[in-house]
Amino acid sequence: MARPYNFSAGPAAMPAEVLEIAAGEMLDWHGTGMSVMEMSHRGKAFGEIIARAEADLRSLLAVPAHFKILFMQGGGLGENAIVPLNLSRGGAVDFVVTGSWSQKSQKEAGRYANARTAASNASTQHTTLPAPATWQIGKDAQYVHVCSNETIHGVEFHELPDLKTLGSDAPLVIDFSSHVASRSVDWSRVGLAFGGAQKNLGPAGVTLVVVREDLIGHALPVCPSAFDYKTVADNGSMYNTPPTYAIYLAGLTFQWLQRQGGIAEMERRNIAKAQLLYDFIDQSPFYENRVAPDCRSRMNVPFFLKDESRNEAFLQGAQERGLLQLKGHKSVGGMRASIYNAMPIEGVRALVDHMRAFEKEMA
Ligand SMILES: *Cc1c(COP(=O)(O)O)cnc(C)c1O
Repeated sequence: MARPYNFSAGPAAMPAEVLEIAAGEMLDWHGTGMSVMEMSHRGKAFGEIIARAEADLRSLLAVPAHFKILFMQGGGLGENAIVPLNLSRGGAVDFVVTGSWSQKSQKEAGRYANARTAASNASTQHTTLPAPATWQIGKDAQYVHVCSNETIHGVEFHELPDLKTLGSDAPLVIDFSSHVASRSVDWSRVGLAFGGAQKNLGPAGVTLVVVREDLIGHALPVCPSAFDYKTVADNGSMYNTPPTYAIYLAGLTFQWLQRQGGIAEMERRNIAKAQLLYDFIDQSPFYENRVAPDCRSRMNVPFFLKDESRNEAFLQGAQERGLLQLKGHKSVGGMRASIYNAMPIEGVRALVDHMRAFEKEMA
C-alpha cells in the first residue's frame, strides 16, 4: 500500500515498517495473548519492552552512564514546568530565546523561578541564532535553557554551546523535542535534554528526559511527586503507570533506527534531505526561506511563496500529489515542510518536483 508523504510538524509521520509491526502484534504480543495496551506495567512482558527501549535509546544516542533516561508524561510543555521545579532551586535561570518554543519555556519557568533572558534573536524575527559569546549568563544561573531546534521558526543549533568556555558552570538544558535522534548529541555540553516523542520518536504521550545524575534530587517542595526526577528515576520510570503503548511504539522506532544504521546514518540522510530542499528554494525566484543559512533546521523547513495569493493553490496541488500537511504554522504563515527521520529522501524529491511544476505552471 503506497502511503502519501506526510510533512506534519507533529504528531508526525512514523516509519511505515513500525506501524506494520505494531499492527501485526496488536492483538497478541509475542504469544502473551494480550495487546501491549492490555498488559500490567509491572509484568514481565512490559518489563522487557521498557528495558529494551531504554537500552536501545542509550546506545543509539550514546548516552553516558552518568545520565538517567526517564520516560515521563506531560509533553514538552509539561517539562517547561517540570525542569524549573527540579532544577531551579527557586533561584535564577537564563533563557536563550530564539523562537516560539523557547519563549514558551521561559514564560512557564517564570512561575517557579526568576526566568531571565540571556540572549534573543527577536530583532531578526527569529531567523538567526545569537552567538554564544554574546550571551549574558548570570553567575547565579541554576541552568541555561536553549531550544536546540525551533520547530516553528526553523532555526537549529548545529553546535551546542560549551558553557564552560563562556565562563559558566551552569548546566545546559536543551529542548530537543523536534530533532532528537536526527543527529548526535555532545553530552559533555548537556546537563538535561527533554523532548516529546511525537516528532521523531513515536506517538504523542511519552516524554523523554535524559538527565545528568547530579542534577537529580533537588526538586522544590511543591514539585508533584510524579514529576520529581528522583521519584521517577528511583522507580525506573514506573512510579505511576507509564504511557505503556507509546513507550512500546517508541521502542519499535528505536529498533527501526538501528536497522537503518543508527544515528550517524540518519544524520547523513537528514543532511542530504535538507540540502535538496534548501538548494531548490534558494535557486528559485518563486520561493524563499528567510532563515540564515548557518542555522537552518534540517528538520523543519519554513518557506514562502513570494506571491502569497498562490498559497491555497499550492497546497491543493500538493494534496493531489499525496503531499500532506504543508501549511505553515499560523504564527509564521507560508509553508512548512517537516522532514523528520521517517521522511525518506523520495518524499523530499516529490515535494521539490511539485514545487518546480507549480512554479512553471504559474509562470
Ligand atoms: C512540539 C514541541 C513541544 C511541545 O510539546 P508538547 O508535547 O505538545 O507539550 C515543545 N518543544 C518543542 C521544540 C516542540 O517542537
